[in-house]
Amino acid sequence: MANCDILIIGSGPAAWSCALTARQRNLNVIVAAASSATGWLQRAERIDNYPGLPQVSGKDLLRIFRQQAEDMGAQVMPLLARQIMPVCDAGYMTLVGNDVVESRSVVLAMGAARPRLLPGEEELLGMGVSWCGTCDGMFYREKEVAVLSAWQGGVEEGEFLAGLASRVDYYFLAKHDQPENVPYTLCAGTPRELVRQEDSRILLKTDKGERCYDGVFIFRPAVAPDSLLPGLALNGAFIQVDRRMETNMPHVYACGDCTGHPLQIAKAVGEGNIAAISAAEDMQGGTH
Ligand SMILES: Cc1cc2nc3c(=O)[nH]c(=O)nc-3n(C[C@H](O)[C@H](O)[C@H](O)COP(=O)(O)OP(=O)(O)OC[C@H]3O[C@@H](n4cnc5c(N)ncnc54)[C@H](O)[C@@H]3O)c2cc1C
Repeated sequence: MANCDILIIGSGPAAWSCALTARQRNLNVIVAAASSATGWLQRAERIDNYPGLPQVSGKDLLRIFRQQAEDMGAQVMPLLARQIMPVCDAGYMTLVGNDVVESRSVVLAMGAARPRLLPGEEELLGMGVSWCGTCDGMFYREKEVAVLSAWQGGVEEGEFLAGLASRVDYYFLAKHDQPENVPYTLCAGTPRELVRQEDSRILLKTDKGERCYDGVFIFRPAVAPDSLLPGLALNGAFIQVDRRMETNMPHVYACGDCTGHPLQIAKAVGEGNIAAISAAEDMQGGTH
């Protein structure tokens, strides 16, 4: 289990800015940075409105931001944060990839991307549908499961589940590469809907047919904020924050696109800075 003062979730400008300022305040920082290849900014060919770096590409800007944060001592875990659990009075435990990170504060800097769920998915979560192989895989020992994956992260999960389940069928929610000789069956249909049957099995409907499974595991490169941290207050699709970037949960802050418009780099960087300062003040018992 890893331990830090602040766990920052995200890999865009808000996250790196927050990491920099937190390190300047001498706090231990871990950044859970799922593949930055999925971040919006990677797609920007040229940025003209970020001060000091005229005509920089999004890719270069992200590289510079990250390098600076790492040089300042931020530790990076290149993995998806899947679930945050409050630990009474002691902060939070967060599942990052398959590791647990314990932190006094959490900063959410996940950008605005929101996964589009399958019909039936949310209702059946915990009732045969799971987003975490490590957490729930044991329940499906010698059973038949489906993996529905929108990204490369599904490969490792599929391999893990293949060591437990009697059968693992792998479906693509979005195209991604596969290594050779995988221990599961690659299936052709695109998943459309999940329906719970009377015998508690889950019927997976695809555009090519349907089949029942004991369990269905779904993997995507993003997690909706209120699924990541149940009880987190939203304002429409965005995380509700005050001027200190505080959310409704103690010692949890949010910054960048995930807090709302304008969706701009300078705003993300500014909010990341404020979130770090607020977290530091609150941990050190300072005034607001
Ligand atoms: C094509 C394009 C051009 C743009 N041009 C400009 C421009 O010229 N000027 C400008 O100011 N803005 C521009 N923007 C907007 C700008 O990219 C965003 O406002 C900015 O990137 C927001 O930063 P962020 O850190 O909040 O989020 P993002 O940059 O979206 O970063 C969030 C990151 O967090 C990661 N993540 C998400 N969930 C998790 C999780 N659970 N665990 C771990 N990691 C996670 C994601 O993979 C993502 O990489 C442009 C956007 C696009 C798409």
